Amino acid sequence: MHKGSAVVHKEDDQVSLQAIRAAARSLGPESGVLRSPLVPAALSGQIGVDVLLKLETLQPTGAFKLRGATNALSRLTGDAARRGVVCCSTGNHGRAVAYAAKARGIPATVCLSSLVPQVKVDAVAALGARVVRHGASQDEAQVMADRLTAEEGLVALPPFDHPDIVAGQGTIGLELLEDRPDLETVLVPLSGGGLLAGIAVAIKALKPSVRVIGISMERGAAMAASLRAGHPVEVTELPTLADSLGGGIGLGNRHTFGPCRDLVDEVILLSEVEIYRGMRWMLLEERMVVEGAAAVGAAALLAGKVQPRGPVALIVSGQNVEMAQALAVGRGEPVTLGDIIVENRS
Ligand SMILES: *Cc1c(COP(=O)(O)O)cnc(C)c1O
Repeated sequence: MHKGSAVVHKEDDQVSLQAIRAAARSLGPESGVLRSPLVPAALSGQIGVDVLLKLETLQPTGAFKLRGATNALSRLTGDAARRGVVCCSTGNHGRAVAYAAKARGIPATVCLSSLVPQVKVDAVAALGARVVRHGASQDEAQVMADRLTAEEGLVALPPFDHPDIVAGQGTIGLELLEDRPDLETVLVPLSGGGLLAGIAVAIKALKPSVRVIGISMERGAAMAASLRAGHPVEVTELPTLADSLGGGIGLGNRHTFGPCRDLVDEVILLSEVEIYRGMRWMLLEERMVVEGAAAVGAAALLAGKVQPRGPVALIVSGQNVEMAQALAVGRGEPVTLGDIIVENRS
């Protein structure tokens, strides 16, 4: 039995295509969410098939998480909307919740541990969210979020394991097929699986022949390990260039493990050097500043880990990278991540 096995993994019904279509209606032009462009990649020439980039980097918060957060917030009414929402992410989800809540006049609380650097705290506060600092780890901050849910009646908005979040991210799948009905393959960065589950539900419902492939880093791939085990398991979180892909899927996962198990064709794992080369390609050849997490599609193609069958769409999921890291990668310099150094040696 693994650690925490008292938590029961009990799946809910899969998010439906109808729910994703409804999410698409609430993410219209007035919503603040961009219907992102799908543009040809320089990578096409290198790989020999049509490669397309879905530019979620252009969302106002710099990442696709604005879709799920906006959809979830748009479904809140009455008392729940008045009391507001709570989450505990410093990353792209926290930003998205703060931004979308402000746009709708819904109070948002973001719980952060004392380890979170002040710049990130300030960034969330600047978006108008109430910041509550508690504990010395993400888990302890989560305890505070749970307490506020119970005591203040706030609505908890987790980063992926929520039907409205999954449906919001799934709108990307609808847009891909609207723009390119001839799509054959889609490469999706994979962490908790909200993005992959949503896209897989939409695409497999509309065009089951499209290959839907999830991509994580070798260092701490929680969904890949869970799929191998047949149920959600915990993995050790390690520093990685794809930092937005870190963290677990939750031992009590209800909404993303099932669709990833049932609908996804393949999950690919990348080394840090492969991710480095993906980021470098995105910067130097595609001329885009992207996070490691957003470069995994390009990285997988460059590493020869996906049989290219085009047209291939890559979800370029976010741009919120430390600029010093992006510049170091662009210059071909080594990057230190905790206990490891990533070098671009060939
Ligand atoms: C959250 C995130 C992911 C992974 O999304 P999941 O729904 O957790 O799988 C990928 N890329 C970026 C930039 C993210 O912020």
